[in-house]
Amino acid sequence: MYRTIYSPQGARIELDGASVINMASNNYLGLANHPSLKKAASDAIEKYGVGAAAARNIVGNYPLHTELEEKLAKYKGVEATLVFNSGVAANTGLIPVLAVKGDVILSDELNHGSIIDGCRLSRAETKVFKHMDMQSLEERLKEPCEGKKIIITDGVFSMDGDLAPLAQIADLADKYNAYLVVDDAHGDGVMGSFGKGTVDHFGLHGRVFAESGSLGKAFGVAGGFIAGNRELIDEVRAKGRSFIFTASPLAPNLTAALIASIEMLSTDDSLVKRLWNNRTYFMQRMAAFGIDTGNTQTPIIPIMLGDEERAKEVSVKLYEEGVYAQAVIFPLVPKGKARLRVIITADHTIEDLDFAANAIGKIVKEIL
Ligand SMILES: *Cc1c(COP(=O)(O)O)cnc(C)c1O
Repeated sequence: MYRTIYSPQGARIELDGASVINMASNNYLGLANHPSLKKAASDAIEKYGVGAAAARNIVGNYPLHTELEEKLAKYKGVEATLVFNSGVAANTGLIPVLAVKGDVILSDELNHGSIIDGCRLSRAETKVFKHMDMQSLEERLKEPCEGKKIIITDGVFSMDGDLAPLAQIADLADKYNAYLVVDDAHGDGVMGSFGKGTVDHFGLHGRVFAESGSLGKAFGVAGGFIAGNRELIDEVRAKGRSFIFTASPLAPNLTAALIASIEMLSTDDSLVKRLWNNRTYFMQRMAAFGIDTGNTQTPIIPIMLGDEERAKEVSVKLYEEGVYAQAVIFPLVPKGKARLRVIITADHTIEDLDFAANAIGKIVKEIL
């Protein structure tokens, strides 16, 4: 069964009755328990209660939703955004609207499960290309297709922490007249200036047709969104099934907390900088231990262990030492590529990072 957390999210949590250093959450900026977000949420509860109680297009559309969508659009540098209950709902809502019968979707083999679901729900044909392999992508782009070609990729891949080569993908999209869609669930709030995402990191504003993302990772709350031009956003607002059929849109308190989150990130990059300083420091510690961290370029750091039993054992032993990091095994990653997935956040102190690094270094050395 699942482990249970008895404290707010943070660098240290109460997990199954033990106090541990948390190296497993997506709370990259520490916003999940941030005072300004909590205040915004509780003020919104006083004003609007706890539930929206109707679809946005019936009587569940609050001014907070519009305000969040406008502020998020400005932050992301796009014309418009639309918020969903989750990143999963954003992908399953967006993809079938964008990709219709006759179209071809080109999808990276390691794309997130909700992209795969969105592709399956669409009437388009999906062709999978090898992970980040531009030759494999180009071969599939060359194949004839009666409708549109749509390339979809994660910006940051969640199990390896590697970055999609977006500049090269955007060039191929131009060359073959394809639409480019980026799911930046792990890039938003993390990559680019002020955490504006992987598209910003690569300087590709205007060259990506649409983005999807999560509001429950770095942004600290819950929900998902899509970003793009106004025409696309209006079309998904009218046709996206995961949007129009839900009678529980983002509750007012969550929406208000997200506005506070985006407002802060729009003017203050200190948490993003802290996150990256922590990431650099921890990577130096791993390198000093000679630990294999794969191809990560982000705060998601895989400690490559290979064998599944070994990965599980490292996770259990670490917990006994007071550190929690998740063992990731098949089918989340291929057989023989089991690992411990460590996620660095802005909330960690240098002492937390040292404690975790020392424990990982010791246990990995014992076991390999
Ligand atoms: C986490 C994640 C999602 C899902 O977002 P939720 O808000 O958690 O539903 C979608 N895509 C990618 C790439 C993710 O990592």
